[in-house]
Amino acid sequence: MMDPKTNAAFDGHEDVIFVGDEALGFAGIIAIHNTALGPAAGGCRIWNYDTPEAALTDALRLSRGMTYKNAMAELPLGGGKAVIYKVGPDRTKTFQAFGDAVEKIGGRYITAEDVGASVSDMRTIAERTSYVAGLPKEEGHAGGDPSPVTALGVFVSIKEVLGGRVQGRTIAVQGVGAVGYNLCKLLKEAGASLIVADVNEKNLERAKALGATTASVDRIHAIAADLFSPCALGAGLNADTIPLLAAPIVCGAANNQLATEEDGARLVARGITYAPDYVVNAGGIINVSAEYLGEPADVVEARVRAIATRLAKVLDMAKAENIPPHQAADRIVRERIAAAKKN
Ligand code: NAD
Repeated sequence: MMDPKTNAAFDGHEDVIFVGDEALGFAGIIAIHNTALGPAAGGCRIWNYDTPEAALTDALRLSRGMTYKNAMAELPLGGGKAVIYKVGPDRTKTFQAFGDAVEKIGGRYITAEDVGASVSDMRTIAERTSYVAGLPKEEGHAGGDPSPVTALGVFVSIKEVLGGRVQGRTIAVQGVGAVGYNLCKLLKEAGASLIVADVNEKNLERAKALGATTASVDRIHAIAADLFSPCALGAGLNADTIPLLAAPIVCGAANNQLATEEDGARLVARGITYAPDYVVNAGGIINVSAEYLGEPADVVEARVRAIATRLAKVLDMAKAENIPPHQAADRIVRERIAAAKKN
């Protein structure tokens, strides 16, 4: 049995639960990082890891990330995450067994979709537990595809860092998938010029139909623009790309944009303003939270628009204290959690 405490990604996690059923060929991990602000919420990732230890590392890292994202978004939720590293030949049975495992935790962990999981998997989980979100939208209630909501959060953030004016600005968007494309639509409506890159031709064509010009995937970060918006995969801001950035601001949807902690300082050294990913991309979890809590759909938009105010606060604090913005964001979260623990 792996010992989470000896894993480098362990960060005082409250609980790490190994779940599985050998007969089904199913194995996974549920990591509960922190429940000071509410039940630990975070999606279930399905991935083929090289080793179970690598799955544990990811569960520990991702659940910690959810604590920060949920706390920053001022949601009544803590941080958790599940990874399933063996699905087994009968997918339905695996997700039923996973649902049983979530139910057994008794509401300290709430699951939803993440990479590799689908709405249909969430429906299967919901046969066994009510501690699940990411189900199809019900009339008048929050729910459904979180991507347009995430895109709105990124859009209001971009507007904020551009001083309120998007009209006539040039935005380079890396990745025009579910979030990136919806973001491009909002930017286009607001009068921005778009330069986009994607490895997926079909997605690129959709963006071109909006009037976007294209750049190669190896060059998009180096394009002269008013703002660079990473909306593809994580770790795009690293020792190789940061020296080449040609936009003064980075603000996008991708999770874990900084490859390492030092990359935040590298951006500061180059005079580039970095809008911390988890502050900007919280629209999806804001939507999921409202769905889980059975709230009406119309509460979501105001909460997502409030991301802009939070981002401004983070950037002001970074400036005032002369620290990188991602450290300012982390500090705000840690203070919020410490205050909740005291009450
Ligand atoms: P997606 O898979 O729909 O889109 C990603 C796009 O990036 C795809 O079109 C893909 O072809 C493209 N891509 C992959 N590698 C690329 C590369 N090297 N260069 C350029 N393009 C590349 O995913 P999504 O749901 O739009 O999510 C985008 C990012 O935002 C991810 O990092 C995700 O974790 C994060 N995020 C998404 C949500 C959400 O609500 N969907 C919420 C929070 C964060």
